[in-house]
Amino acid sequence: MQSYDYLIVGGGMVSDAAARGIREIDEAGTIGILSADVDEPYARPALSKKLWTDSDFTWDQVPLGTASDADADVRLQSRVTAIDRDARWVETDAGDRFGYRRLLLATGARPREINVPESDRILFFRSAEDYRRLRELAVDGRRIVVVGGGYIGAELAAALVQNGVAVDLVFPGAVLGEDTFPRELAERYQALFVDGGVRLMAGRRVEGVEPAASDTDGAVQVVLDDGSRLRGDAVVLGLGASPVTDLAERAGLTVDDGVVVDETLQTSDAAIWAAGDIASYPDRLLGRTRVEHVDNAQEMGRAAGRAMAGGGEAYRHTPFFYSQVFGVRWEAVGTLDPELDTLVVEAGADETGPRTVVYYRDASGRPVGVLLWNVAEATDAARLVIADAPTSEAELRGRIG
Ligand SMILES: Cc1cc2nc3c(=O)[nH]c(=O)nc-3n(C[C@H](O)[C@H](O)[C@H](O)COP(=O)(O)OP(=O)(O)OC[C@H]3O[C@@H](n4cnc5c(N)ncnc54)[C@H](O)[C@@H]3O)c2cc1C
Repeated sequence: MQSYDYLIVGGGMVSDAAARGIREIDEAGTIGILSADVDEPYARPALSKKLWTDSDFTWDQVPLGTASDADADVRLQSRVTAIDRDARWVETDAGDRFGYRRLLLATGARPREINVPESDRILFFRSAEDYRRLRELAVDGRRIVVVGGGYIGAELAAALVQNGVAVDLVFPGAVLGEDTFPRELAERYQALFVDGGVRLMAGRRVEGVEPAASDTDGAVQVVLDDGSRLRGDAVVLGLGASPVTDLAERAGLTVDDGVVVDETLQTSDAAIWAAGDIASYPDRLLGRTRVEHVDNAQEMGRAAGRAMAGGGEAYRHTPFFYSQVFGVRWEAVGTLDPELDTLVVEAGADETGPRTVVYYRDASGRPVGVLLWNVAEATDAARLVIADAPTSEAELRGRIG
């Protein structure tokens, strides 16, 4: 049986950062990465943004170079199905066993699915394989239905329409982005899509997807909750994601909306760590939380690697998250819940439009989330605002801008 000093289950963004984090402390220990993917670790956010919108950005810039940079043994198409915590080995779906001294779980999230017929024109988008398939389908002049008004659906709708594809975007809310932004900003966000040529189907949910009745070309019909049908050459569903915690649960680790870790990212087993989309961790500013975003994957992955190699520090980083559509980038720290009291502060404009900061405040008036719309390099300032927790509106207005 092959054994590693450090074994990482999952070959996503955390695995890359963790392998590099290990190397910051331990140059010689062996690192193994077992990944269910067909691709080596890569930068996932590019799949719905830069690869579509930046012609200078090509596929060769997406892989992270983990194996060579961190001298890690990356084994692809190796899905781990079991962990023996007493004997310290894991088993893959091929029946191979790999021993470990220290283990990191980094199995990420999987897209939420609904029942659909088997078809390569129906995608629940997550991986580079999905990206390659969507590229094949995204032929100029075709129509693609995108379902879901979250950031994946919105980014893909923007990406497709900017590549000559006619796009219907179906989402349940009255205004796109209303689950994240206060109404005035949601309207500004929605206008980007209308101006960009996306056909918006607001207030609609998807009941199912069927093969189109009279099309020999494998096209699909999306059935909406009012009984109407949208015809498309393909459909992409972005219905959210859930953490892949089944392996940890079967191994008897503590799982509660994610694999529960302490501030050094250790699970309830002292030889096993968890990080990234699957990890429920105690955030210094936000309390116990789980974050499905790339800054968290990178920083927490690195911290987990260092911790496994004996670094001994606590994870103290509160992550930011971001999205980008039609040239507008927004970043945020903390909780973006428009049901909270929001303070919208306009901070001028640049060539891509208005710059705006939104503070989301809890019942006692303390900011628990900060949105930076078109405001760059202010995530540290946003963290400070949440840490300082000023309750005066006048003070908040002067903080970022
Ligand atoms: C299309 C897309 C765009 C995104 N854009 C943004 C963005 O703009 N901004 C932002 O902040 N965040 C973004 N994110 C989120 C960000 O990419 C994730 O938070 C990050 O990738 C999480 O890293 P991870 O390593 O935890 O999980 P992942 O990167 O998902 O990696 C998980 C890995 O585990 C493997 N795996 C799962 N189960 C097993 C098993 N049993 N055995 C072996 N391997 C297994 C998977 O195959 C995969 O390799 C985006 C996500 C997607 C899907």
